[in-house]
Amino acid sequence: MNGLNTMLAGTLSYFPRWFVKPFARPYVAGETFETAAAAVRTLNTAGFLATLDILGEHVHSRTEAEAVRDAYTRLYRQIQSEGLQSGISLKLTHLGLELDPDLARENLLQVLEAARATHNFLRIDMENSPYTDATLDLYQTCRSRYPRVGTVLQAYLHRTLADIQALGSAPLNVRICKGIYRESPQIAYQDREEIRNNYVRAVQAVLNQGGFVAIATHDLPLIDRIEQWLVQEQIPTDRFEFQVLYGVPMQGKLEQLLEKGYTVRVYVPFGQAWFDYSIRRLKENPHIVGYVLKNLLTSATG
Ligand SMILES: Cc1cc2nc3c(=O)[nH]c(=O)nc-3n(C[C@H](O)[C@H](O)[C@H](O)COP(=O)(O)OP(=O)(O)OC[C@H]3O[C@@H](n4cnc5c(N)ncnc54)[C@H](O)[C@@H]3O)c2cc1C
Repeated sequence: MNGLNTMLAGTLSYFPRWFVKPFARPYVAGETFETAAAAVRTLNTAGFLATLDILGEHVHSRTEAEAVRDAYTRLYRQIQSEGLQSGISLKLTHLGLELDPDLARENLLQVLEAARATHNFLRIDMENSPYTDATLDLYQTCRSRYPRVGTVLQAYLHRTLADIQALGSAPLNVRICKGIYRESPQIAYQDREEIRNNYVRAVQAVLNQGGFVAIATHDLPLIDRIEQWLVQEQIPTDRFEFQVLYGVPMQGKLEQLLEKGYTVRVYVPFGQAWFDYSIRRLKENPHIVGYVLKNLLTSATG
């Protein structure tokens, strides 16, 4: 069954959207702000914070990038008027970085203004390695203008510890993740244990530099290992938070973290561009394909 799930997850991108939709559903909070707001409200009621992301990346035109910028500035106002406990995460290629770095910068600064106007937080996601330098540069620009902004660094990249050092001290806010893209062995660790070790070092480095760190992983042993260090070093709980992606099963871990008084934030993606995002998630955990098939068969037969 495992092999079948992996094979299906690997080929889903060739299927039509209507076929993939049931498999995507666990990972995406619908296509509209209303469906996403309902998901965030449920999370908030259960004690979780959220970060909303409008799905999409690599836009093809200036007009498209500006429409994304407007959707994000509107989203800040919607979050405020609905009283949601949620920040925003965005990708710079969605704001036009691939087309024109100046366009992405202009768009980003307008979104940052909306974050400031609504007293909210902005996280700049990290994309693949051709965009690392530009992302860090734009993060620097943003944080010199407004402190409630953060970015992401990937534990699989060899350069990450040096990047943290170069970012200097507070206001420093970094999400550490393992990294989702395929990167070459010349620039990225490939071995799972090496990535974990670098992950721990990166979390420690951000904290040692006086920054705030978002620990974004579903790797339960890694969460335990980092938590042990945080307790041992008596790191105050307002210096870090745990983050997970919407829909990833966590075997009760998140509730345990909440009970211990930690902040847990869920990354909630929504929007019409759900297809590519969900395919990536399904490739990460082909078991989901099996669960969905089982649920579909159960509902069809009974
Ligand atoms: C909040 C958040 C934000 C992120 N932002 C970025 C970013 O900006 N840039 C970037 O490159 N990457 C980002 N990522 C993705 C990250 O880099 C990893 O690719 C992803 O989290 C999987 O790695 P892992 O740490 O969970 O460990 P893994 O070792 O991959 O997974 C640990 C366990 O969780 C399970 N699991 C992992 N993913 C899933 C899934 N989709 N469904 C079900 N089970 C799953 C695995 O099966 C395994 O049992 C983000 C991740 C999170 C949680």
